[in-house]
Amino acid sequence: MEAIEKNKLGAWYSSEEFEKLYTYLDGDLGAGWTKNKTTFRVWAPTAKEVYVNLYQNGWRGKKETAERIAMDPHRNGVWTAAKNGDLQGTFYTYSVLIDGAEQEACDPYAKAVGVNGERAMVVDLASTNPEGWDKDKSPFRECDATDAVIYEAHIRDLTVHKDSGIENKGKFLGLTEEGTVNCSGDITGLDYIADLGVTHIHLLPFFDYASVDETQEGQYNWGYDPKNFFVPEGSYATDPYHGETRICEAKKMIAAFHSKGIGVIMDVVFNHVHDAEKFCFNNIVPGYFSRIDSEGVYSNGSICGNDTASERSMVREYIVQNILYWVEEYHMDGFRFDLVGLLDIVTVNEIIERVHEVRPEVLFYGEGWAMPTNVTKEVKMATQKNSHLTPGFAYFNDTIRNLLRGRNSDTNEKGYVNGRTGMADSLKSNLMGIPYWVSSPLQVVNYASCHDDLTLYDKLKEAEPEADRAGLLRSNRLAAGIVFAAAGIPFIQAGEELVRRKVNADGTMNSNSYNAGDSINAISWECLQNADCREMRDYYKGLIAFRKEHPSLRMGDIEEIRDRFTFYDIPKGEETVCLINCEGINGESAAQLCMIFNPEQAEKEIFLPDGRWEIHVSAGKAGTECIEEVKGSVTVSPVSCMFLVKKQESAYEENS
Ligand code: CA
Repeated sequence: MEAIEKNKLGAWYSSEEFEKLYTYLDGDLGAGWTKNKTTFRVWAPTAKEVYVNLYQNGWRGKKETAERIAMDPHRNGVWTAAKNGDLQGTFYTYSVLIDGAEQEACDPYAKAVGVNGERAMVVDLASTNPEGWDKDKSPFRECDATDAVIYEAHIRDLTVHKDSGIENKGKFLGLTEEGTVNCSGDITGLDYIADLGVTHIHLLPFFDYASVDETQEGQYNWGYDPKNFFVPEGSYATDPYHGETRICEAKKMIAAFHSKGIGVIMDVVFNHVHDAEKFCFNNIVPGYFSRIDSEGVYSNGSICGNDTASERSMVREYIVQNILYWVEEYHMDGFRFDLVGLLDIVTVNEIIERVHEVRPEVLFYGEGWAMPTNVTKEVKMATQKNSHLTPGFAYFNDTIRNLLRGRNSDTNEKGYVNGRTGMADSLKSNLMGIPYWVSSPLQVVNYASCHDDLTLYDKLKEAEPEADRAGLLRSNRLAAGIVFAAAGIPFIQAGEELVRRKVNADGTMNSNSYNAGDSINAISWECLQNADCREMRDYYKGLIAFRKEHPSLRMGDIEEIRDRFTFYDIPKGEETVCLINCEGINGESAAQLCMIFNPEQAEKEIFLPDGRWEIHVSAGKAGTECIEEVKGSVTVSPVSCMFLVKKQESAYEENS
């Protein structure tokens, strides 16, 4: 390639001409290991010379002279080299010579790395498979996205508390341990999550991220700062130095969840990298991975210093290959995309199409906020507003979150569950799974809290500092009732069901605990000693069971929902009644469901349609058993929801 002036590189990379010359889609970049030979392939279209450097150590601090092998130009900007012998465990980097300057970098396609991800490692992936891995598979086949119940957690938060009863605190292996209990004998960890009834665990980033020093113990970060996209994070492994250990232990964790019938979702952060100047892809092909203008200024919609140029063919290919790899090698069941509104829809759709060819049940969802970003081509972004252009991708529903608890940006603002009035129309559209920006419940992730911003309880407390705990817990239960009743995909932050709080040492509430450490972030398993935490857990557990019992709540077809849902307006009241006609729905035991939401401080008498109704969810209790049978009318407690089931007539005939 001829030398291109630096300020014109970005435009050149995004030109049709460049993409025609240098797009390589064979899917074999990286180090391909066999027992007798390893083949290295790297995409470096702007380099004059490329070398692979072989090391015995994975750590740059250790003085060592590399064995240096010149690579040969292959095609479309790819360079190759092969080395005979069994290279398993050999560390390596690439050196590229561009405009007379040499730059050494890790392999962007590294499947294994040494400590802190500085050097790649050649790995025989089959040797990293735990026992039984060949039989490990997703617990799901042919399920709709709306059948999922997602539990969002951080590996360290779940395991690290002194009362977790878990041996491998803060580690992948901590989530493989069975039979763990807290000091009062309540189950914790893996068993606890399985008992709750959720279908999927969504884990905050566990690809290799940069902000934790893997040579130290006890550091904390959420992990939204990618370093090596194809490799698990080393600080979650019992040994971050030997590249195979983290791979094996991540697989063990995934297999443990699968053995409990739970799918595993990884939080992926493609929209930016930890340090664009130091990111290995940008070192090998200067500035290619990021959106940089002709003045050399990085686009920064991510507010993390750089935005990924997903619209370029070899960035798109990188992201597609990455997701395919996690699906095939790690048997992942879903992906949550951080700030997906910074990625283009072509990339997002290609990922879904390629994955769904082999695994149609894999879930895809993310944050579809529209953010300003300096794209290098004319592209549409994967935002809520463009949701109709990415039909296989679901978006976080901040409309229901704001409806329930008030906006995050206004800590004093209340929501439907703590006294804000005039919300009935928004409640109805959210119960049908179609907030104003979307037309299918399959594309909606409903939630009242996630790792970002205040926990649900803290937000309710912030808006009503004088309210007593019992009152706040009532609001919390009503919010949960709406999340699990609404069409769409229900999602809870781990610990929401344990009245989780994030309180700083000075008593203020922490709305961004990404580096706040274990004292703020750890799930406090000892809280299960408190009756109100146990009751809240049981309430969530009951709501999850109720939702799983009733396919009427999990419909994905908006036309069917329109046909079957009826709302009763109550004059002069804030309460809402939603009636679902369940006749003929596959797997549904009810003839009708009646869901009543009462956000007011007064109890309400609600008239019911004809017939015998069983209360399954009320102010204090939720589940799939009849709490009480009623006819004619029912009294609903202040700030609560009530779900009633009218059985099919045949159910009574059989019993009588
Ligand atoms: Ca790391």
